[in-house]
Amino acid sequence: MTKNPPIEDNVVVLGGGTGTPKLLRGLVEIVNPEKLTIIANTADDWKFYGLHVSPDIDSMLYVLSGLLDESKWWGIRGDTFKAVELLRTRFHEDVWFNLGDQDLVTCLYRTYLLEQGYTLTQATMELSRRFDIASRVLPMTDGRIQSIIVTKEHGPIHIEEYFVKYHCKPEVLDISYDEGTHPMRTTKEVLEAITKARCIILGPSNPVTSIGPIIHLIDIQKAIKDNKHARKIAISPVIGSKAVSGPTGHFLKAWGIPVTPVGVASLYQGLVDYFIMHPNDKEFEDLVRRLGMKPIFLDILIPKKDDAVRLSREIFHHVL
Ligand code: GDP
Repeated sequence: MTKNPPIEDNVVVLGGGTGTPKLLRGLVEIVNPEKLTIIANTADDWKFYGLHVSPDIDSMLYVLSGLLDESKWWGIRGDTFKAVELLRTRFHEDVWFNLGDQDLVTCLYRTYLLEQGYTLTQATMELSRRFDIASRVLPMTDGRIQSIIVTKEHGPIHIEEYFVKYHCKPEVLDISYDEGTHPMRTTKEVLEAITKARCIILGPSNPVTSIGPIIHLIDIQKAIKDNKHARKIAISPVIGSKAVSGPTGHFLKAWGIPVTPVGVASLYQGLVDYFIMHPNDKEFEDLVRRLGMKPIFLDILIPKKDDAVRLSREIFHHVL
């Protein structure tokens, strides 16, 4: 099969650590990787024995360098877990967070760079260079903002506790973004990428805890709205009345939002012009239109790289 020339427009993708990395496997085959910028959610960031862990940034770095463990959608393929095991056995620490040994070294180096005075953006660019990645991965902010899951059993907990310590089991009452006393801002790098983009994609990620924190930043919202020449697209992480994976449904419910593609679209109203959803979801067509978006029906299930390549090609065919 002859390969079409890559798309040379600037493309910006917003996302978290599972759905969007799945899509990126395809996007890098369709778009010139040097024209691709990924804005990663950092509201999952977490301190582990002093190490700065950025789960979503790292999933982006690993998928783009071909290292991601695609059976779990986090960590490095074939990684060992000797360091956390030693913490448990030698130091009798109650370690519930999982960090592979290679993954730990990434976090160690990030922490070292931050302590040298690098911003998270600069540290991410440096890591990206070391992983030989042609695309740009940018944290949504250099500030600290955290997704807090308010649970019935344990009260407010960090999202990593909800995911890893409690295995998404607690009943979710609410989700909030803790940004301290000052509203967080994004970075000049993110604003520049959005301003220059010809295409802005909200990846098929959790709309509450992955895309949500990114578009919660007012300056990101404004930059997306102000870019009048970009095609703005969102891809549903929900098919019918179920998320493809993970606790997205629980989070939407806790916010009182229907667990449907329309529920997701309602969170993106005013930001995107095209909403990509599954062909089985034709019943939602009118409601999505009423939100001011053009519905596009494509097979958005992308378990394999070939699926992601196909979906990426189809998206650009429809919107460019
Ligand atoms: P997290 O950081 O692990 O929460 O990762 P994301 O927010 O990036 O990904 C979780 C979301 O990805 C969930 O809402 C899933 O429904 C969605 N997702 C996972 N796989 C697929 C897929 O193949 N297609 C689509 N459309 N969504 C997916």
